[in-house]
Amino acid sequence: MRIVVIGTGYVGLVSGVCFSDFGHDVVCVDKDARKIDMLRSGKVPIFEPGLDRLMIRNVEAGRLTFTLDLDEAMEGAEAVFIAVGTPTRRGDGHADLTYVMAAAEEVAQKAKDYIVIVTKSTVPVGTNRKVREVVAAANPALDFDVASNPEFLREGAAIDDFMKPDRVVVGVETDRAAKVMAEIYRPLYLREFPIVTTDLESAEMIKYAANAFLATKITFINEIAALCEKVGADVKEVSKGMGLDNRIGKNFLHAGPGFGGSCFPKDTKALARIGQENASPMRITEAVISINEQVKRRMVDKLLDLCDGTFNGKVIAIMGVTFKPNTDDMRDAPSLTVVPALLGGGATVRVVDPQGRHEGEQLLPRVDWIEDPYAASQEADLIVILTEWNEFRALDLGRIASSMKTPRMADLRNIYTAEDARAAGFKAYSSVGRPDME
Ligand code: NAD
Repeated sequence: MRIVVIGTGYVGLVSGVCFSDFGHDVVCVDKDARKIDMLRSGKVPIFEPGLDRLMIRNVEAGRLTFTLDLDEAMEGAEAVFIAVGTPTRRGDGHADLTYVMAAAEEVAQKAKDYIVIVTKSTVPVGTNRKVREVVAAANPALDFDVASNPEFLREGAAIDDFMKPDRVVVGVETDRAAKVMAEIYRPLYLREFPIVTTDLESAEMIKYAANAFLATKITFINEIAALCEKVGADVKEVSKGMGLDNRIGKNFLHAGPGFGGSCFPKDTKALARIGQENASPMRITEAVISINEQVKRRMVDKLLDLCDGTFNGKVIAIMGVTFKPNTDDMRDAPSLTVVPALLGGGATVRVVDPQGRHEGEQLLPRVDWIEDPYAASQEADLIVILTEWNEFRALDLGRIASSMKTPRMADLRNIYTAEDARAAGFKAYSSVGRPDME
């Protein structure tokens, strides 16, 4: 089967590479000439573990190509996946559908034979119907179907998530489109991964409901963490005790500096907006959005306390600025709230991140990028663990504490304990939802 994927970002590239690994012929299209040049020379423009090897294997097998030219790509294609960005529209929280609609119109102009136009981007309920209208208006003679196929992969574990999904969701209107989608996902059917085939609206809704639920779970434990700090409980113990209940489950119960990333912040805002537009307010999601902002600000207050009430003149070493480990993605990362607050207060900020520099240099322009955590801690007043990269999980805390001006640590991912910090010579240690070091 010949498949076109439009957009070679985190979702489009992973999908294209994995579809080709299923055995399909895949052409990945992007408008960004720099990305297509890199891909053609065998380089992956993003950091995603294992993606480079899988990509090269399928390019070498002749099943995967990259182009700027949609016209050429569409030749003989049976399905085209739209995997372009749907960022938050400025001002109203709505998902910006400009890129999706532009891609749909381009497909309509280039397609000649029956094709299934699949939206993989996260889009509000009703978008696939709009895609159908746009395509029909642009090319009234075209024989086509639309399908919704939201993506659930997580950056940092994207290949495994795509190849071994908890489920695949497919929204269709016709048996013909259902057959094409079934053929595409046949290798997963054969391995008995659940495929939920449903209508367009339900498929679109599943994606937002799932993401809003996960964001709610994180926010719930972050609120519990704040209360734990007040009453002397330990949120790690609380999460463990809660998560062992099968009805609750242990995932997404780690307290931290608030959620960020390319999906939860924009998808919760978009769901809240969909609720408002349909006079069915999403009150829980609206609360999650505002509490998450408070959580990030609470982290800044925590750091201020550790710095005796002022950042002015302090040297602060930040470990990790990407929104989570194993990705270079900085979109809506908590660091984008925390670091500017430190700089604004007059601190000198040093940043260590295994993959974040490329993106981060533009977003955090006034920081010093340092490769080694030990060099970054020299003569520092405070170290802050903001992203739990493996590189920061087994630091020689004694070496760090002894090289700092004042050995103080904010462990915003709860990867160490007050006991570890004390034993290493830290004079102050603060984490999230657990008692501080006395
Ligand atoms: P991204 O910004 O990394 O990539 C989008 C790509 O599309 C860019 O390379 C851009 O140049 C390209 N593009 C835009 N318009 C185009 C056009 N008309 N023709 C060709 N190329 C075009 O985005 P992403 O993170 O991959 O997200 C894509 C969608 O998938 C979003 O709706 C997002 O919500 C959803 N999603 C993302 C993730 C994730 O973890 N990143 C997970 C699940 C779902």
